[in-house]
Amino acid sequence: MSANIVFIGLGNMGLPMAQNLVKAGFPVSGHDLVKASVDKLVEAGGKTEADSMAAVAKADVVITMLPASRHVESLYLGEAGVLASAKPGALLIDCSTIAPEAARKVAAAAKARGFEMLDAPVSGGTNGATAGTLTFMVGGSKEAFEAAQPYLQKMGRAIYHAGDSGSGQTVKVCNNMLLGILMIGTSEAIRLGMANGMDPKVLSEIMSKSSGRNWTLEVYNPCPGVMDTAPASKGYAGGFGVDLMLKDLGLAVENALATNCAIPLGSTARNLYDIHSMNGAGKLDFSSIFNMLGKAK
Ligand code: NAD
Repeated sequence: MSANIVFIGLGNMGLPMAQNLVKAGFPVSGHDLVKASVDKLVEAGGKTEADSMAAVAKADVVITMLPASRHVESLYLGEAGVLASAKPGALLIDCSTIAPEAARKVAAAAKARGFEMLDAPVSGGTNGATAGTLTFMVGGSKEAFEAAQPYLQKMGRAIYHAGDSGSGQTVKVCNNMLLGILMIGTSEAIRLGMANGMDPKVLSEIMSKSSGRNWTLEVYNPCPGVMDTAPASKGYAGGFGVDLMLKDLGLAVENALATNCAIPLGSTARNLYDIHSMNGAGKLDFSSIFNMLGKAK
């Protein structure tokens, strides 16, 4: 018999992820504070219940995709939360991007109640969530990692066991800090070339075959018109928002303070995205940082 899944947090990422589980034939009960999102899952063949914790009580697997640490902590640790409601033996998987410390705290509380819990943040954005091609970076026991495979494989393509609880989040924080820095560096380089009269397409093509090559240059170019499929060529709409990047860089800075680690470029990147957000770009794709570094032509 197919495992009963409860999916909580049907936002930009969670809805397509839950839809892929429905497509794979799992009975999925979806829950969100926004009714319209729940309706979309039900239209796609999922179900729901008025009381999300009554659904959790019947679930074999609980998957969450929430905005930030505080949402995850309150949903799992609250008096009538997931840990208080789930049935013995349920597998708990949190896919949100949160602080490694928060992930370890919730996993320890889950363990104290006899549950296996994984932190399983993702990379790949909303396109990857829709296509079922996300990368999962997973922290928790090897046994729980194996038990989660049937579900994670329906939502992602590359699924990595990073280590113990919290290590999935640590990898995610490191990856997104590097991504944020690379996007600013790539924007600077293209702006400098343009200031010298270079065609940004020619410049990007040559750098893509040279030692400056990186994902933001080759796949997600920040300069409008260089790459038709990139958010830069669509008015910086959709994609990965400045405010979400700002949140992730904030996690990196918090973590660096707690671990006494120097991240001079990571903290500078956080400050630049913060100024960009304060200037009103919070909802635009993070590649719009390109606009902060020069005048639109
Ligand atoms: P989102 O804001 O679109 O979705 C979050 C959803 O959680 C919302 O629909 C909200 O109503 C719901 N929610 C909040 N508290 C809830 C509660 N107590 N019960 C039920 N529902 C609740 O965010 P998103 O873009 O889907 O991102 C989710 C997570 O994934 C974040 O941690 C984000 O950093 C991470 N992430 C996002 C992307 C991306 O490209 N958007 C990529 C990788 C990782």
